[in-house]
Amino acid sequence: MRIEGVPASAGYAEGSLFDLDQPPAGYEAKAGAAEERAALEGAIGKAVGRLAALIETADGDAAGILEFHIAMLEDDALGGPAFASIASGQPADAAWRAALDGEIAGYEASDQDYFRARAADLRDIRDQVLRALSEDSEAAAPPGAILYGEDIAPTRFLETDWSKGGGIALRRGSAASHVAMLARSRGVPMVVGLGAAAESLTGVALLDAERGGIVFSPSPAEIEAFRQAAASFADRQGAARTFLTEPAATKTGTAVRVQVNIAYPTDVEGIDIATCDGVGLMRTEFLFGKALPDEETQYHAYRKVLEWAGDKPVTIRTVDAGGDKPVPGFTVEETNPFLGLRGIRLSLARRDIFRVQIRALLRAAIHGNLKVMFPMIATPDEYAQAAALFAGEQAALAAEGVAHRLPPLGIMVEVPSVALAPEAFADVAFFSIGSNDLTQYVMAAARDNAAVAHLNSVRHPAVLRLIAAVADFGREKAIPVSLCGDAGGDPAAIPALLEAGLRDLSVAPTQLAMAKAAIADVAV
Ligand code: PEP
Ligand code: MG
Repeated sequence: MRIEGVPASAGYAEGSLFDLDQPPAGYEAKAGAAEERAALEGAIGKAVGRLAALIETADGDAAGILEFHIAMLEDDALGGPAFASIASGQPADAAWRAALDGEIAGYEASDQDYFRARAADLRDIRDQVLRALSEDSEAAAPPGAILYGEDIAPTRFLETDWSKGGGIALRRGSAASHVAMLARSRGVPMVVGLGAAAESLTGVALLDAERGGIVFSPSPAEIEAFRQAAASFADRQGAARTFLTEPAATKTGTAVRVQVNIAYPTDVEGIDIATCDGVGLMRTEFLFGKALPDEETQYHAYRKVLEWAGDKPVTIRTVDAGGDKPVPGFTVEETNPFLGLRGIRLSLARRDIFRVQIRALLRAAIHGNLKVMFPMIATPDEYAQAAALFAGEQAALAAEGVAHRLPPLGIMVEVPSVALAPEAFADVAFFSIGSNDLTQYVMAAARDNAAVAHLNSVRHPAVLRLIAAVADFGREKAIPVSLCGDAGGDPAAIPALLEAGLRDLSVAPTQLAMAKAAIADVAV
């Protein structure tokens, strides 16, 4: 039986199924409320201790997630309702479970993907404490297993030994979750949105996280076909690695620039700058976490990336909060956030916050080859206002005698109005096509909704025609055009993008080798 889902981290895994949803072992009730309270306090402390130990071995992103979990566990507001229930006679495990389940239900009911994805973090915290209460650590998945369940907690992912392979198959889950991000960066195959449950959780399953599906109780013919597909994927990856150190070029020798997309300054630590042509997109909204980052924090984050890149260009995008990327204290609740106050619209509405970022960028610019671009531009007036803010802050820094430089200012092409009428933007320094948003707006199909994923194709002629028109316009006016949406790293989309006239792509670091290999196969 094959069930279709959504690929969240490409790859193949063949292995025995491991049930992620096994209930934690039982808890023995204590003599009275005071003992129950002490048991819960002790369990929370133990969970914090385990997380702190995990942080010791975690890298940047993983450590950030674990720190977030510790902060939540140490927040008195989270445990408050549980301690109140204990005082009125409930045992610690039931009190904690009920309190956390209530909180989780609130997150799950959100209409925003970001908050639904955070429900997995809360389930993780709930189970960590339940586990500590029952003193019985969760059975570890055997090496190479396919972890199957509703959703998976980030700590569960980090505690699992992936050195022998294995994968993750989720009935729900989200490609936007923290775990999906970790799986992509560690190369663990992962499929989400499988919906229906397996009839039996015993035996071997085949996880196809390239196309997105899982086969339970496979027939010999299915196993044979799967192994061929997995071998082909491994061959393609192996062959691609030989392309990594070479500049990208097509079959006919046309040079193509390939840059990388990053989100955190620490992302550059695992990338050899010699393997790419710079940073085509740094998404700065992820720096805007629980608190708005101040000028110094931003300055150091941007400077780190610029110094890493040396003289290669680093294109930093001003904060694109809103849509599926809410930022507490900045974004607003909206019924249709993808069509609302996001990107440059929000930055222009909250100039106090925008000016801090602009100052940090102007100061960081002296440390490398910086370019800055604005997200979600729809009209030339928005660009003019944003550019005027840069000029204003530049004058202010000059008056204060602070070292700075004005970088070239460009725009994202992701709203159809810009792609349809680029002539209104003849004075920008460069265009960067955001194919993720451009596609969702042209096709009227939300990028985070699995039910309309089939419509969300950059290869639809309507989307490709717009991309070709922007590439033509750029060539005619000598304005550089690149593409930084996910399609740039998709080997299936690369031929169409090059045929549309693009010669500059920016891709996720893990896609760099495969993208260069795919480029070498195109005759343009
Ligand atoms: C895009 O829309 O293609 C893009 C690169 O921006 P983001 O995915 O951050 O919206
Ligand atoms: Mg976008």
